[in-house]
Amino acid sequence: MDLSKLFDNNTDQARITNGTTRKLILKKKIFSILYLESNKTIADLCTPVNVSIPTMTRIMRELIEEEWVEELGTGDSRGGRKPVFYGLNPFIRYVIGIEITRKYTRINIFDLHNRPVGEMFQLDIELDKAPDMLEVLRSQLDAFIIRNNIEKNKVLGAGISIPGLLDKKSNINYSYPNLGEKPLNIVFTELLQIPSFIEHDTKAIALGEAWFGLARNKSNALCLNVGSGIGLGMIIKGELYHGVSGFSGEFGHIQMIPEGQLCDCGKIGCLETVASGSAIVAKAKQMISEGTNSIIKKLVEGNTNAIRLPIIIKAAHQGDQFAIELIEESGDYLARGLAVLIHLLNPEMIIIGGELANAENLIADPIQQKLNKYTINRIRQDTDIYISELKEQAGLLGTIPVVMTNIFSQEPNINNFNNTIIS
Ligand SMILES: [Zn+2]
Repeated sequence: MDLSKLFDNNTDQARITNGTTRKLILKKKIFSILYLESNKTIADLCTPVNVSIPTMTRIMRELIEEEWVEELGTGDSRGGRKPVFYGLNPFIRYVIGIEITRKYTRINIFDLHNRPVGEMFQLDIELDKAPDMLEVLRSQLDAFIIRNNIEKNKVLGAGISIPGLLDKKSNINYSYPNLGEKPLNIVFTELLQIPSFIEHDTKAIALGEAWFGLARNKSNALCLNVGSGIGLGMIIKGELYHGVSGFSGEFGHIQMIPEGQLCDCGKIGCLETVASGSAIVAKAKQMISEGTNSIIKKLVEGNTNAIRLPIIIKAAHQGDQFAIELIEESGDYLARGLAVLIHLLNPEMIIIGGELANAENLIADPIQQKLNKYTINRIRQDTDIYISELKEQAGLLGTIPVVMTNIFSQEPNINNFNNTIIS
């Protein structure tokens, strides 16, 4: 993802009216450069910030006094005096990541070097249990912040990843009316008393891959999330693609079987009904009950109701033919869908993530083989298929860019973190 796009902030330029605001904007710009591009010398910073060396030296001195920036020692000289490098103080502010799924919520705190500060914390409460679930989240998050010795006013923001039909403009989640009628960013900002930013779960995964995973520095990447459902996050021309309302990427609801089963969405024969984790589990339960021989039965001690996707994947890794065939069949349907995307978008890479990615080559190979069958050779050659390296971590890590891109694109706001760097 081309992060330099974040600096094209015309609104900031329009606000350059007086010294304080201008200096604040310059400081924010330095902050964003050091955050996104790591350590720099004064000379490195002058061009992108567009100030002279004496001005930059003065501003950096202030940023050091204010503890935003640290002097890091000298680098190699290209003749003359060795340049001094400056970097962000990673502990001057923190970002909270909250990944809400249908079944559980995961939380962690990250420093400005994107390192987790605490142990990832999982709250086993279902999203359907909101609004009670929100109250539990609030109290557990407060306890988590205290446990990790973080001052709440040092938190830049909370990034919240959530499933469902999330309207990007209104921040309303149509799938979970139980979260209340207010826009979700306001619901969470009021609840947590921390500026909160919302992103759809699969899109947060794509951001995680684009900032920290295999899609780093890639302009055109598709991130497939196959768990209980099937979602798609698209990085197009270096940016996360939302569509007009934020509903892009509902890949699981393209029709695959015209006379197929009823999907949760109300339509018939969606891709999700034949290729998702839920579909694989349902088929395993049915066929094992009907007498199909598989070590899955042994792994659940005969209780077919206990069959879950990780058990099927475990059986497949142990060489169980039935489990391997179930995953292959899912791969076949996914490839039919992906073939359409490859023909339409000509992506550089497709990253397979979500729970099914734990099947590793047992899912990647059938997809690759079937793509050979369903796509035009010349077009497919451009697209590499990968299993996510971040796997289940991608979603929580993806909440970091959700916060930081919002922080960088906001106008200077004295109610936010910026007040501490006004001098
Ligand atoms: Zn559907």
